[in-house]
Amino acid sequence: MDNSPVDQVTYVTVLQKTRRRRKYFFATMLVYIPALLITYKISPTNRAMGTVFGIWVVILIFVTFLVALSKCPRCGNYFHLHGMSLLILRKCLHCQLHITTDKIT
Ligand SMILES: [Zn+2]
Repeated sequence: MDNSPVDQVTYVTVLQKTRRRRKYFFATMLVYIPALLITYKISPTNRAMGTVFGIWVVILIFVTFLVALSKCPRCGNYFHLHGMSLLILRKCLHCQLHITTDKIT
């Protein structure tokens, strides 16, 4: 970590931000089925289901962009994006920096 182009504080902040964005992404994925089930109980109409699905898609697109545009603090490339492929792994796709590197000291 000594040859990092950014200072330690920025390094940790960026990694924390990336982890938070990943949490939003996974939370959005998990909330899909419960959200549809709840909507079905409250109002089992196609319109209500369609509205909830539409809102969910918009949120998913938004969080996907947040995750995709997270940058790696070590190499400066996109953490989860390599060319056109978005892979949400625990390591940077460019320099293999682990998402919890700042916790291991
Ligand atoms: Zn990297």
